[in-house]
Amino acid sequence: MLEATGTPALRFLLEHGSYRRALSAFPSLTPVCLASIATGAHPDVHGIPHLVWWNRGEERLVEYGSSFAALRAAGLARGIRDTIVNLNERHLSKRAQTIYEALEDEGLTTAAINITTYRGRTRHLSTIPGAPAVNGPKRFFFYSLYESDATGAPLAVLNRALGSIDAYAAAVGRWLVTRDGFDLLVFYLPDYDFASHALGPDAAHEALARADASIAALFAAAGGPDEFLERYAVVLCSDHGQTHVERAARLVVAGARVTASNRAAMVYGDDPRALAAALDGEPSVGVAAFLDGGRLVARRAGEEDVALLDEFPGGAERMAAALRNPNAGEVLVSAADGWEFVDLAGRHHIGGGSHGSLAGSDSEVPMLTVGLGPPPASITGIKRLLLEHFEAGVSRAA
Ligand SMILES: [Zn+2]
Repeated sequence: MLEATGTPALRFLLEHGSYRRALSAFPSLTPVCLASIATGAHPDVHGIPHLVWWNRGEERLVEYGSSFAALRAAGLARGIRDTIVNLNERHLSKRAQTIYEALEDEGLTTAAINITTYRGRTRHLSTIPGAPAVNGPKRFFFYSLYESDATGAPLAVLNRALGSIDAYAAAVGRWLVTRDGFDLLVFYLPDYDFASHALGPDAAHEALARADASIAALFAAAGGPDEFLERYAVVLCSDHGQTHVERAARLVVAGARVTASNRAAMVYGDDPRALAAALDGEPSVGVAAFLDGGRLVARRAGEEDVALLDEFPGGAERMAAALRNPNAGEVLVSAADGWEFVDLAGRHHIGGGSHGSLAGSDSEVPMLTVGLGPPPASITGIKRLLLEHFEAGVSRAA
């Protein structure tokens, strides 16, 4: 990515910052990873288990949009409500504190554009009559559905493939930077992920160039890149990676409920060892894992050995945190190389890219900090880094 031409804003940040590869959460899927970035915690604490999961308390499926067809299969109105409202209001654990809550409790102003984990302290009405109000950061912009300020940005959702989402973020971001209207701005650019699913990783250069242009728009609003860095420190990262997909499987376990999408699956049922054993001959399964009396067990093709997880970066730790999430299935499955699990509607990304597994390709992300000291080794370290940064700022001012 960073060798690519046509990304001058990213290159500028790289030349002024510290870079490393860092780890995401497991499953390495957007709702899980963005919750980890926002709360500084793994799923055992924040409670978001997957793109699609079984809500035991309500005895129903929750689907955050594996694909539009999957959302429709789960019930479109409810799926949209789960994705936009319930994820933050109900599913994200109250035991976890978001970066917006933490900083605004200290009297700072936080802003978020388009990020799906946004829980904050300020009630926002929707721009669409009849849609529910939600609690977000003081300055909150969400795909044209929630807008705390009138910025004149174009509609976010009209042409996603041509980058309308990131263009919306750029327009709102430009407005915010022009006014220096925040202490923390979370600026989320999902169009690159969307393009990489369709075209495959390493092929979505055009979308990356558009993301770069969205960042350049923030620089321009500050008067130029140097002026931008005089005003702001920066964390630049991805929430997960992507892997080429060559094959897809529909995961079925007799007598159990399976929720699957992208490169991770969960199995809900009474006897985890038997459920994992039912997957022994399944070629799409890279590794299955469960807790046996609180002890982590990993299984592949009939072999049980927790060391199977050592093949993956942070494998045992990330798998254990995923299994200790009360919303997770009894068995968690990480897909084998090149495989994807079809979603509720049978959708997959064969020939393109996907993510969700424990593998390094899905789980390792670029992590760049500018003006903040060394970059964290995990996306769960970003919140602490920001809290320390703002604490230092407060003590200097005192
Ligand atoms: Zn994705």
